[in-house]
Amino acid sequence: MKELNFHRASSVEDAVASLKKAESGKYLSGGQSLLPVLKLEMAAPSDLVSVAKIKDLHGIRVEPGKVMIGATTTHAEVAASAEIRAAIPGLAALAEHIGDAQVRNRGTIGGSIAHADPAADYPAALVALGATVKTDRRTISADAFFTGLFETALEADELVTAVHFPVPERSAYAKFASHASKYAICGVMVAKTASGVRVAVTGAGPSVFRVEAMEKALSARFAPESLDGITVPSADLQDGGDASAEYRAHLVTVMAKRAVAAALG
Ligand SMILES: Cc1cc2nc3c(=O)[nH]c(=O)nc-3n(C[C@H](O)[C@H](O)[C@H](O)COP(=O)(O)OP(=O)(O)OC[C@H]3O[C@@H](n4cnc5c(N)ncnc54)[C@H](O)[C@@H]3O)c2cc1C
Repeated sequence: MKELNFHRASSVEDAVASLKKAESGKYLSGGQSLLPVLKLEMAAPSDLVSVAKIKDLHGIRVEPGKVMIGATTTHAEVAASAEIRAAIPGLAALAEHIGDAQVRNRGTIGGSIAHADPAADYPAALVALGATVKTDRRTISADAFFTGLFETALEADELVTAVHFPVPERSAYAKFASHASKYAICGVMVAKTASGVRVAVTGAGPSVFRVEAMEKALSARFAPESLDGITVPSADLQDGGDASAEYRAHLVTVMAKRAVAAALG
């Protein structure tokens, strides 16, 4: 790992100003994805700007119809939140099954979505629930946030400050996880709201994606059987690693059915 400058930011303004000043800086939150990247020398920033102690970035606020999660809130905190369990149980359950205890105690929602790993769990939740991402300078819809493999709509020095979720009528997440890492080989989140159903898939493709045919069928009748015979083409899916593209395509329908069954309780 190359030598670098370390800054501990005290505020959002301080963090953004420090990154702007750096030759090639990176924000550091829980370090669960960035530190392995640095150790493997897949990136060599001149500066790390830690956002972990910025008070304004941390915490959970639940109000009627909406849930706000600050960027540095850990997966363990989301999983343990009684308020989130009551408002969006599928979201708390998703956080509970990220990685292992160490990853959940250090890893944060802001770091996870900024990293945009194709097998990460949160992207499915954000897209299915129709969340919005707040940054230091704007609001980005989840549909526009995830733009590709490890790619987001964030500018190089843009800081995620929070994620806002509308509370759905029902939602659930079903994941077929890698035994080794617990990352999703295929994970599907379904969310039913007054305006219809959204289905978002992570792990199977190069980035999170929605399945329109499933959304239509479930909006007409919210039941696992509504998905009988609906499949996604394997051509655009990840091929190799833990599973072939054909197997991932099969899993999308199986996990979607399981998620609907779980949402129905
Ligand atoms: C063994 C292992 C197993 C894992 N299993 C899973 C799993 O099952 N499911 C899953 O979803 N994830 C899994 N992860 C990833 C984990 O969830 C990470 O916590 C997450 O991907 C990154 O969050 P972090 O806070 O650690 O971010 P960091 O590692 O600190 O940062 C990651 C990236 O995000 C940027 N960043 C961080 N915070 C912000 C911010 N506020 N605004 C803008 N950019 C920011 C950083 O610059 C960096 O590029 C696993 C990780 C490990 C090591």
